Amino acid sequence: MKKINIPDENILSGIAAGPGIAIAEAYLYSKEKLEISDGTIDDIATAIENLKEALERSKYELGKILGIATEKMGEKRAAIFEAQIMILDDPILIGQIIKRIENEKRAPEYIVNDEITKYQELMNASNEVYLKERSHDIEDIKNRIIRNLQKKRLQSRIVNDVVVVTTNLTPADTILFSRSNVKGYITDFGGLTSHAAIVSRSLKIPAVVGAHDATAKIKTGDKIVIDGFRGVVILNPDETVLEYYRKKIERVKQFDKELAELKDLPAVTKDGREIVIRGNIDIPEEIEYLIQSGGKGIGLLRTEQVFSDMESFPTEDEQFELYYRVAQKIYPEYVVIRAFDVGGDKFLPLDVKEPNPFLGWRGIRFLIDNEELFKTQIKAVLRAGIHKNVKFMLPMVSSMNEIRRSKAIFETCKEELKKEKKKFDPHLQLGIMVEVPSAAILAKEFAQEVDFLSIGTNDLIQFILAVDRGNEIISSQFQEFHPAVVRTLQAIIANGQRGNAFISMCGEMAGDSLAAPLLVGMGLDSLSVAPSTIPYIKKIIRSMSYEKAKQLTLECLSLTTTQEIMEKIEKFFSENLIKKSQL
Ligand code: PEP
Ligand code: MG
Repeated sequence: MKKINIPDENILSGIAAGPGIAIAEAYLYSKEKLEISDGTIDDIATAIENLKEALERSKYELGKILGIATEKMGEKRAAIFEAQIMILDDPILIGQIIKRIENEKRAPEYIVNDEITKYQELMNASNEVYLKERSHDIEDIKNRIIRNLQKKRLQSRIVNDVVVVTTNLTPADTILFSRSNVKGYITDFGGLTSHAAIVSRSLKIPAVVGAHDATAKIKTGDKIVIDGFRGVVILNPDETVLEYYRKKIERVKQFDKELAELKDLPAVTKDGREIVIRGNIDIPEEIEYLIQSGGKGIGLLRTEQVFSDMESFPTEDEQFELYYRVAQKIYPEYVVIRAFDVGGDKFLPLDVKEPNPFLGWRGIRFLIDNEELFKTQIKAVLRAGIHKNVKFMLPMVSSMNEIRRSKAIFETCKEELKKEKKKFDPHLQLGIMVEVPSAAILAKEFAQEVDFLSIGTNDLIQFILAVDRGNEIISSQFQEFHPAVVRTLQAIIANGQRGNAFISMCGEMAGDSLAAPLLVGMGLDSLSVAPSTIPYIKKIIRSMSYEKAKQLTLECLSLTTTQEIMEKIEKFFSENLIKKSQL
């Protein structure tokens, strides 16, 4: 890759929310701030009439948006707008607004604002991530009704072929602007899970969200490059930068064409060995993306992440509701739900300060010491498994005692559910993460105790090499291809298979394109990776031979430095596969 120099002040960074690259002019979009009058009214009947008209007009607008969304994204993903229309028909909400107009004799826009804001506050106070997200949609509805009460027009069209730069976007804006052939979205605020981000991903429009002061730095008419893969925006690029990105856009187009053809094909080597590729999920919205990317089920659902914004642990029913929903969505494929892996670099809801958290009260250690909490999760998982497509996995296991104790608690939970007359899967499979060296050494014995093993390289490598996975200073020493790591992985897989367990890998190494031939050659049954990397890994697996990959692994096992191993793999790529620079 040719090095390109861009002055720091011309680069803006945010969250990569919609993949793709575009070069276009910027269009600064600012929404008119609605002034809400708090005047009193004399004519109640006319006020209620106006309200009804505004509701009808809002419904009409949303109906149009729903139509465009269905056409562009399909029925399922357009359902967020259907949900918005339903709120406009909610008899309790509308009834309450009308009652207050009659009683308080205040302007309908004031009551609408007050009443819907209360609704939003309730949602924001909830522990449910979904409800919190829905609160943004409600904001859109509220503003829509108020704008229609004030008889102001909806701005739905903008100049064609621009990158929209704004503070925040609603899903409806995202859909409407897409009709003007928008080339990209940049927002000051918003995260990966905002519906606007989800919509731009579905529409395959490059988006960078949470770019802080984008609206302050970018002016309408500025030429910009938006790189939605990396979450980067380049202002006023020079000819070298433009040339670099033009070439990149061409390469992405070509590659996308090839990848799209792979979506429904299995990850099978040229000589017939199939590797099942699943996805790692941290937020439920990613499931849609996983399905689109051609993943076969969920190999890791990080429950501590899914519930991370809750102040306390969720109840059995709250958990059941989410796990069941995920299981239904992914059916007939399965989901591996991992027990709360709290501690380490993840949140620990209790006020505990540890001198060495990575080696501290983490994962299974914490759960066994908090048995009631552990049981709540196990019961929710067992109940979510009634369609037989749920498995449960224990994190940070380091001893046989932890496995046996967990299994005993698992059995107690089944007994209790039976007594409570709740339906569950009595044969739900139990597995463990292999991410601590002691588990790697005892892989065969542990495998005999459980149904499956999943190798967590993120932790395993930090423990084998004594390199903190989150420490920037030593990040170059966190080496996936260190001979000690490679040999340990091979031993886990071989011994785990001797112990008759299904072996998978869900650490980040599984999604590293360069590692794929080595991991396949080691005999892994399955890889679980970030959804966006699935097509890439699939492409590599489909273009390699298992026999040659086994040979590569054998050769790597005899090497003694990281560099030698990497060179060997790169040579394998250039001789047998696509070039590393193309990945
Ligand atoms: C791992 O350690 O490799 C893993 C998958 O778990 P986490 O990254 O959640 O610790
Ligand atoms: Mg881990």
